[in-house]
Amino acid sequence: MPDARKKLVAGNWKMNGLAASAPEFVRIVGAYQGAMKSGVDLMVFPPFTLLTSFATATRGAGVGVGAQDCHAKASGAHTGDVSAEMIADAGGQAVIVGHSERRADHGETDADVCAKAEAARRAGLVAVVCVGETREQREAGDARKVVGGQLAGSLPDNADADHVVVAYEPVWAIGTGLTPTVDEVAEMHGFIRGELSNRFGPDGAAIRVLYGGSVKPDNAKELLAAADVDGALVGGASLKADDFLAIAKAA
Ligand code: PGA
Repeated sequence: MPDARKKLVAGNWKMNGLAASAPEFVRIVGAYQGAMKSGVDLMVFPPFTLLTSFATATRGAGVGVGAQDCHAKASGAHTGDVSAEMIADAGGQAVIVGHSERRADHGETDADVCAKAEAARRAGLVAVVCVGETREQREAGDARKVVGGQLAGSLPDNADADHVVVAYEPVWAIGTGLTPTVDEVAEMHGFIRGELSNRFGPDGAAIRVLYGGSVKPDNAKELLAAADVDGALVGGASLKADDFLAIAKAA
């Protein structure tokens, strides 16, 4: 099992990054993490095209690398898809599943996300399982119901801290510059922590829960200090090594 909920700062590059951007990023982040030794776990989730070069460049630097999605099956006739086994083969250690952009753009259901999380485990990867409500759902007072339902449907029955990280990402905060208040973050993370403990017992209590949605260098400290926040999943601000490290230092 990982250290008792050591903080994790993860960068989701989404559909950004060309080969030229990898070496400098890895050099800066790797040098920092190499010097830090302990403290905070760092992971980067580049597009598939950069996975191997990131995995090669970060080897020995203590920076983890993962992909942003996987297929539930190990191989087969699925044009354009990539399996968890292929991600592991390319040097990845983790995969994001159920990001709200995949749920919205590709119609992924909780059952799809759960199957992908199971595929990740089968391939020896950590699944970063994303949940979060829309603005309309929050305004209707349904945020807990929505997030509770996503957790129930998206997490496999054998979820534990070695194989699963949860990321709470309110859809309305992603890429918008808007964030919930620290109290709202703490309230939702407390709810998620309770759901994980109720369902998985001590295994659930050890699962890390990240906050994601417009985390920037200037708001990272207060968001990451909120109760039950075990780190951050960072989109836009993870593309620049200096911003990403500023967030890691705030963790
Ligand atoms: P953002 O994205 O930091 O750009 O809001 C977060 C995410 O989607 O993981």
